[in-house]
Amino acid sequence: MAVFNLRAYDDHEQIVFCRDVDSGLKAIICVHNTNLGPAVGGCRMWDYNSDEGALIDALRLSRGMTYKNAMAGLKMGGGKSVIIGNSKTMKSEELFRAFGRFVEKLSGKYITAEDVGINPNDMAIVNKETNYVLGLEGKSGDPSPVTAYGVYKGIKAAAKHKFGSDDLNGRKISVQGLGHVGYYLCKHLHEEGAKLFVTDISKESIERVVNEFNATAVGIDDIYGLDVDIYAPCALGAVINDNTLPQIKASVIAGAANNQLAEDRHGDILLSKGILYAPDYVINAGGIINVSFEENYNRDAALTKVDEIYGTLTEVFEASKLSGRPTNVIADELARQRVADAKNK
Ligand code: NAD
Repeated sequence: MAVFNLRAYDDHEQIVFCRDVDSGLKAIICVHNTNLGPAVGGCRMWDYNSDEGALIDALRLSRGMTYKNAMAGLKMGGGKSVIIGNSKTMKSEELFRAFGRFVEKLSGKYITAEDVGINPNDMAIVNKETNYVLGLEGKSGDPSPVTAYGVYKGIKAAAKHKFGSDDLNGRKISVQGLGHVGYYLCKHLHEEGAKLFVTDISKESIERVVNEFNATAVGIDDIYGLDVDIYAPCALGAVINDNTLPQIKASVIAGAANNQLAEDRHGDILLSKGILYAPDYVINAGGIINVSFEENYNRDAALTKVDEIYGTLTEVFEASKLSGRPTNVIADELARQRVADAKNK
């Protein structure tokens, strides 16, 4: 397979293919860009169908981290790693130690963290071989409440842009997914007087939010067509697609889920329908911002930085309005500009 010509390659600075025969480790570490600082991004363990699939996933995720960290105003570049294998059957102390040694060899150019398929115990093992690990237990803690706080602030920025006021009192808001982030988001929205419509595949999660925040429960597939002001996807990716788009009546889409647009072109369709979309990696950056404050952790300082999501999104919305181009495209451009500016400094 041609690597440098791959669309996903996108001028990555460095890619390391890691193999340790004794432990069975096969991993890929991608360093997309370090103009702003060391490349920070989680490690995913996944049973990929092919090595090519693993590489392309890692490349895409790694570029995404460059954009996310740049838009969050962090002194961090973008990177990501993948361990190829079944996270239920292939984990071992030796495997994570071997991975840790590869991270260590990059001397801090790449800093790893948890992602899909990896838990805090795994990262604690990686940490035996390298200190280039973020998000360890007992440090900055669960990032989800901070992500939820950032999404809440982002929803207010979107409301201000779309409706002329960021007061959410009386606004009808649908929340899809009531997990770690969705629950705390509902709490903030309820406290401000929003009327909540919620769904989840877990009955207990729904009951909790219905009881605690006076929310109205709706069916899994009914969430899209609700007559609400704001729709907050907080579960899966690719929820904005050719099937759901014709159903959506909300004026604003702003939520925590990663990769909400099934394809970039869905951003154009949202624009043409007059639906304001808060680019996912901008609005959901609270967690990575929190982790970036891990050294001498100070919650207030982290939350103050998270407050900046409001202004960053406003900048994206205004540039989109001025240029008549979709918000997802504008966010990518602003991120690339921030990265290029850092190189020229
Ligand atoms: P989570 O797993 O705790 O919660 C997801 C919830 O969605 C679960 O309650 C699950 O039952 C529900 N769900 C699954 N399928 C569903 C469906 N079809 N319809 C409705 N609900 C469904 O995850 P989380 O940590 O709350 O993260 C939510 C989203 O935000 C994910 O996309 C995640 O990648 C993204 N995100 C999370 C963080 C963070 O700090 N946790 C940071 C950035 C982005």
